[in-house]
Amino acid sequence: MDVTVPLACSVTPETLQLVLPNGATRDVAAGTPARDVVASIGPGLLKAAIAVAVDGEVQDLMTPIRKGGAFVVLKSSDPRSLAILRHSGAHILATAVRRLRPDAKIGFGPAIDDGFYYDFEVETPFTPDDLAAFEAEMAKVAAEKFPFVRAEISHGEGEKVFADDPLKLERLAELGPGEVISTYTDGPFTDLCRGPHVPDTSYLQHFKLLSTAGAYWRGDEKRQMLQRIYATAFWKKDELDAHIHQMEEARRRDHRVVGKQLDLFMFHQFAPGAAFWTERGTTLVNTLHDYLRELHRDGYAEIKTPLLYNKGLWEISGHWGKYRENMFLVLDNETKEHDFSLKPMNCPSHYLMYSARKHSYRELPLRYNTYDVLHRNEVSGALSGLTRVRQFQQDDCHIFLMDSQIADEVKRLTGFIIGYYTTFGLTATLKFATRPETRIGTDEMWDRAEGALKAALEATGLPYELKAGDGAFYGPKIDFDVTDSIGRHWQLGTIQLDYAAPERFDLTYAGDDNTAHRPVVIHRAVSGSFERFIAILIEHFAGAFPVWLSPEQVRVLPIASDFAANAAEVTAKMRAAGIRAVMDNGNDTLNYRIREAEKMKVPYMAVIGKREAEAGTLAVRERGQGKKQDIIAVDDFIARVRDEIRTRALPKPAE
Ligand SMILES: [Zn+2]
Ligand SMILES: [Zn+2]
Repeated sequence: MDVTVPLACSVTPETLQLVLPNGATRDVAAGTPARDVVASIGPGLLKAAIAVAVDGEVQDLMTPIRKGGAFVVLKSSDPRSLAILRHSGAHILATAVRRLRPDAKIGFGPAIDDGFYYDFEVETPFTPDDLAAFEAEMAKVAAEKFPFVRAEISHGEGEKVFADDPLKLERLAELGPGEVISTYTDGPFTDLCRGPHVPDTSYLQHFKLLSTAGAYWRGDEKRQMLQRIYATAFWKKDELDAHIHQMEEARRRDHRVVGKQLDLFMFHQFAPGAAFWTERGTTLVNTLHDYLRELHRDGYAEIKTPLLYNKGLWEISGHWGKYRENMFLVLDNETKEHDFSLKPMNCPSHYLMYSARKHSYRELPLRYNTYDVLHRNEVSGALSGLTRVRQFQQDDCHIFLMDSQIADEVKRLTGFIIGYYTTFGLTATLKFATRPETRIGTDEMWDRAEGALKAALEATGLPYELKAGDGAFYGPKIDFDVTDSIGRHWQLGTIQLDYAAPERFDLTYAGDDNTAHRPVVIHRAVSGSFERFIAILIEHFAGAFPVWLSPEQVRVLPIASDFAANAAEVTAKMRAAGIRAVMDNGNDTLNYRIREAEKMKVPYMAVIGKREAEAGTLAVRERGQGKKQDIIAVDDFIARVRDEIRTRALPKPAE
């Protein structure tokens, strides 16, 4: 039911029917504030209520009810309540800022994923001291327990209320004649806002102002620069503390900082968005590649395809029409047109390779695997360390198979992907994404594809979450979200079913009936991009990689130059055993050299003095275990490190 109620009071208010979760119904006059309905259900419930959902739409307790339907009271335990608290926090922030800086003009203050922000137009940017003062003032505003008072006003009234706030006037002018214009007032501060909000300012108890940054008004770089204050809020103190701790950990682990410290990669202005890998970084990349190659040894065909293609290919694939602005175009000397492009993905070139010869059903599933370099033209503003790059490598696989093979294949791929993450101590959750609004292919094709993928997913026995409408434009998919050591989530791997590409590229195989059939294509990535995966690994391990992955596994430290010859011999022995050992025979003191090795997060330090040189032993220090030293025979130590490399053992937790 869609009820449009005129702003002015109607003569005879319409009666709306609300259906409570227990099935009971309530008839209320249109325009009754939600609070009255909640109070009539029970005063205890009103105390716990943050907001309500009417027919699935969240509104606050102050807002009149304008439609009937399912009526659900949201308490703080409902996940939808947190965004209401945070958005209310933005009003309270603006209240505090206006008290201390009456000249500040107000922009918008929405809740965002991890908190909220508010934009202000001020002469001078805010300082950390300002933030501390605002935060203290917010606590006062909360203690004053101002109710959020809602008013519905006319355009003319709005122009008076916001006469001194040009940004609000601009927003007001956009509201059409049929729209409800509402303001919310908490104590001295009034904002133009639709809501919803918590009942009063005292609901904000556990919050923190985090940072300030410039932000263009409405994200438009032609408009004025505002000062955005980022903040967060939670219902419980321990949740706020955990979030702050996670943020601090994330900052400490930032791969851009750690990557520099560990000398893994660099960037240069002449190659924006493309990493330069140092010797250590290249070792890391190659170690991951080697591991993946080992995992793909049986049942996969590794291939390489060109980087540069004529637009003809992209016209068939559809990229030329839909994706061109994300591609790096290259001038063709003959046509003098930008008719060539660097590949932004591997799939079309794999189809060319597939269709270059005939295939029999006996070859299927046929798995083409590659690590080729890809380019995507991200706007330079979006580039950030290794997580947003223009040049990257994917562990990209395209599987050509028959319908009847989908279930087995998805099960196999899912096990593969989860096994890979487990090696790094990353845990994965599965998301099943179905047909999006914008898509190609018929509904019948989508029914078939979603049915097949869902059946395959259920056959794995693993739990999954449904993400309706989140599929690729050519087919449904399973996404793998991993959780890192500090509880952050990253979307990495994907299994995408594609019935459209085989049509576009006219891919066929000869069935056992000797006639041509269409295969299905599965797109599969495990790490996603290596660059981003390495960024995640750096932050997940805080740079303290497992031994097998460490660019340098052992640092051999002779106490003095007298033992250098012995240390060199030991180092050579380790290297011959396949261990990445490096000797530091510098002139610096032993303590200094130990600190240097610690800074580089080398898993083992092998110290050699007189006793060790004579006995053929090492004084071994393990990363993260303090000054503890074990005396171990050289051969035993080599065997131990080799074993850790072979089993890809995860690091011990630091002491
Ligand atoms: Zn608001
Ligand atoms: Zn693909």
